[in-house]
Amino acid sequence: MAKGKYTWFNGDVIETDQIRISPYTHALHYGTGIFEGIRVYKQHNGGGAVFRLKEHVERFFHSAKIIGFTIPYSHEQLFEACVDIVRKNKFEECYIRPLAYITDGPLGLSMGENPPIDVLILVWEWGRYLGDDGVNKGVRLKTSSYIRPHVNSVMTKGKITGQYVTSVIAKYEANKLGFHEALFLDPEGFLAEGTGENLFMAKKGVIKTTPLTSVLEGITRESIIEHLRQQGHSVLEQRFTRDELLCADEVFLCGTAAEITPVREIDFRSIGEGKPGPIASKLLKDYQAIVRGDTPSYGKNWLTPIK
Ligand code: PMP
Repeated sequence: MAKGKYTWFNGDVIETDQIRISPYTHALHYGTGIFEGIRVYKQHNGGGAVFRLKEHVERFFHSAKIIGFTIPYSHEQLFEACVDIVRKNKFEECYIRPLAYITDGPLGLSMGENPPIDVLILVWEWGRYLGDDGVNKGVRLKTSSYIRPHVNSVMTKGKITGQYVTSVIAKYEANKLGFHEALFLDPEGFLAEGTGENLFMAKKGVIKTTPLTSVLEGITRESIIEHLRQQGHSVLEQRFTRDELLCADEVFLCGTAAEITPVREIDFRSIGEGKPGPIASKLLKDYQAIVRGDTPSYGKNWLTPIK
């Protein structure tokens, strides 16, 4: 799990060790930052490629709009910068973390009209987020004692750093209790998502995922909905309850970090046969083929080569 020797920092590529951040950094005090998480995959025909970079850059700008600050670079500049920093670190397969935050400037909660922004792009090598064992055997989930708050409290369409504190403490609670991951309910008690993943269930051939009301608009979620529909599956974006989830034939999580992760148990009840089911198992393989350029129809638009 190597961290990148070089980082893109406010327009320059510099050694990561050289970056110094002021203790007055507003984001350090108030969580006023935004971020993205993107993966680069080794391609079957050689070299590396970034999966759905355009969409991740777009979401980064949406997060900035939601929090209310301006990123002092264009979409094109950040798109190129992501590719450049991967190339500079000579990683063929890695994770890219663009991050923008209010730096040393405003002292109180008021961020003012045009707060000063730092923009960084970090890269690191990252294996399977929920572990090889978790992916092979399926993970165990716990419904969290924390909930996704009202949509006007936490705005889940933005990847805003401060908002992730709830994810961190929910994951801590689930891990301490011996589970791989926590599941959030929405304020009305319906399922929402994992701490860093979207949620899917399948019952009698019908696949459901939670609607976008109280979850992040996941790029993996969108990719696999498209893929599943192309494969002839019926996929509904519909709310569902805990009891419906427990009685599902299959449950799986998805996200850039978690990729496709089957679920074998929730709240001490085994799901389906207590092992990865046929839909999740096939999806896992298909997803790897898509991100590695083995499925031409998707490869055309979704992969940006590191050249
Ligand atoms: N939900 C949350 C809360 C997340 O942090 C993530 C990870 N970005 C996801 C869902 C999955 O989104 P994506 O597929 O775009 O990584």
